[in-house]
Amino acid sequence: MITATAYAKSPVSQAPRRVSILGSTGSVGCSTLDLIGRDPSHFDVVALTGNSNAELLAQQAVAHDADLAVLADPAGLEDLKSSLSGTSVEAAAGQDALIEAVTRPTDWTMAAIVGSAGLRPTLEAVRQGKSVALANKECLVSAGDIFMEEVAKSGTRLLPVDSEHSAGFQAIDPNASDAIEKITLTASGGPFRTWTQEQMKIATRDDALNHPTWSMGDKLTIDSATLMNKGLELIEAYYLFPVEPEQLNIVIHPQSIVHCLVEYSDGSVLAQLSSPDMRTPIAYSLAWPERMWAPTERLDLAKIGSLDFEAPDYDRFPAPLMAVQALKADNGSTTVLNAANEIAVDAFLKRRIGLPSINALVAETMEAVARDGLSKPKSLEDVLALDALSRTLARTLLQDMI
Ligand code: NDP
Repeated sequence: MITATAYAKSPVSQAPRRVSILGSTGSVGCSTLDLIGRDPSHFDVVALTGNSNAELLAQQAVAHDADLAVLADPAGLEDLKSSLSGTSVEAAAGQDALIEAVTRPTDWTMAAIVGSAGLRPTLEAVRQGKSVALANKECLVSAGDIFMEEVAKSGTRLLPVDSEHSAGFQAIDPNASDAIEKITLTASGGPFRTWTQEQMKIATRDDALNHPTWSMGDKLTIDSATLMNKGLELIEAYYLFPVEPEQLNIVIHPQSIVHCLVEYSDGSVLAQLSSPDMRTPIAYSLAWPERMWAPTERLDLAKIGSLDFEAPDYDRFPAPLMAVQALKADNGSTTVLNAANEIAVDAFLKRRIGLPSINALVAETMEAVARDGLSKPKSLEDVLALDALSRTLARTLLQDMI
């Protein structure tokens, strides 16, 4: 007999789901393995990948009985091999090994490599035609049209993992997508929500990494502090949902409880609410189309008392406007924006530039590339070439800023 509790905790009713995780050593990757580890009989881990963290990757591969562990950076291969010696886990490293890992048959792949480094492996996962849980937002920002063409061609089921997009995915009525008037993504406002422009000029790396509600990798945490993250998410939403850029909005919501609101033509607004814990959207993607139990804090609205919303201040946080402008230009500007932002965030994390210089470097790079003439990338190779050009220009402009 199935008890109510057993039913509620059952993740998926089918046989064990074969899963691979690209970026398993990161924040999203670790949360995914946390969920899988709580119910190992329902999941069969095929491949796990990291960049350079051989020690954690080996621990994960052994703990979850993975077939294969791959590091993108070949420098860590010897460490990985020695940590895995005497186990049944295969060790490999390098870009070819990463792509080979993705082609191992699975039912579900988590795409959680950070940055445009995730583009090739995630596209390869899409080409396999199974389910891809998409955490990496840079794929859609950098190569949205090409990426979505591959999704359509392969018949892959794309499951959004970003909390706002998972929320939108849940709130969109597939039978009434024509009736959607507006989609609003919420933003916590980050650590500088109440800071003045003067205070933000002297914000430190530690200030920026001190996110009030979410625990994430460093790159995304800095993107959240500048609100570039919301800009990237607006671009992501455009590709994932049946709306035009004009129908997308953001609202600041410091508690990070409401993640996305979908407004319909009859005035109804459907929203998804949950505690700010990535294990909820990851669980949704892992068990889809069913639901699985996740060990997250349950909402007690009476205890929370009130939920606040405010308009974004684009004078202090211009990044979302830059992102929407790039999206509307429809000429490869989003690829440039993404590449320049990665260089700028990296420079900020290395304490080479201050917080305001992040947006400045992105804007200057976009202007410089546009001056040389910009045309819409038609293939992955075009995207990669534009990404490389933008990085070179951003690095040159960065030297002048330091
Ligand atoms: P982390 O920085 O915590 O983890 C990144 C992962 O990618 C690690 O496994 C890292 O390996 C690997 N990696 C880094 N560089 C490379 C490379 N050049 N080639 C291959 N693998 C690489 O990031 P997050 O988990 O925070 O984010 C992952 C993605 O998900 C990002 O695109 C982010 O925007 C998105 N996302 C994250 C959310 C979050 O809450 N964290 C929420 C929504 C979206 P190693 O550990 O060895 O360096």
